[in-house]
Amino acid sequence: MNESPESAEPREPHGPQDGSRGPREPRVPAEPPGSRGLEPVSEHDRAVVTEQLGRPPRGIRAIAYRCPSGHPGVVQTNPRLEDGTPFPTLYYLTCPRLCSLVSRLESTGVMREMTERLATDPDLGRAYLDAHRSYLAQRNAIESLGTEVSAGGMPGRVKCLHVHVAHSLACGPGINPIGDETLELLADSWPQGDCA
Ligand SMILES: [Zn+2]
Repeated sequence: MNESPESAEPREPHGPQDGSRGPREPRVPAEPPGSRGLEPVSEHDRAVVTEQLGRPPRGIRAIAYRCPSGHPGVVQTNPRLEDGTPFPTLYYLTCPRLCSLVSRLESTGVMREMTERLATDPDLGRAYLDAHRSYLAQRNAIESLGTEVSAGGMPGRVKCLHVHVAHSLACGPGINPIGDETLELLADSWPQGDCA
């Protein structure tokens, strides 16, 4: 979680908590708060996700991220739904607050600017291509859909910020640059309220 090279001292008894202790870096926190790593889906999780989505979740495999308050934020889904329908979105954003904040950001047209930057910023373009490959590799490790299409417009366009935010929260910072950037843009609004 919070490893730094010089941290030879013993761990805090309670582990990293909410970061309320000491000043935080104003931008680009090392990691967004909350859990990381796949967790099995409990009956309670399933009920919460059903409420979040307004319908029972389909093809749910695992909880890939929890908001700091503990509710599911991102679920990992099967590449195929129960009826065999391909479902290429491996990480699905379920947190209602984050979903609506991302939708609002999308409505400002930021995706167009991001897509343009993919072509003009070689580092960004390369990192986004790596994110695409990583996404495909993770999905293919579960089941190959026989396609090079990942999700969210990768690797050439930015089409859905929900996909990228979900990817960043599930896999941690440094994997999906567009998801990381989107979380930075929302850092004043999330996690707060019932997500904090
Ligand atoms: Zn949340």
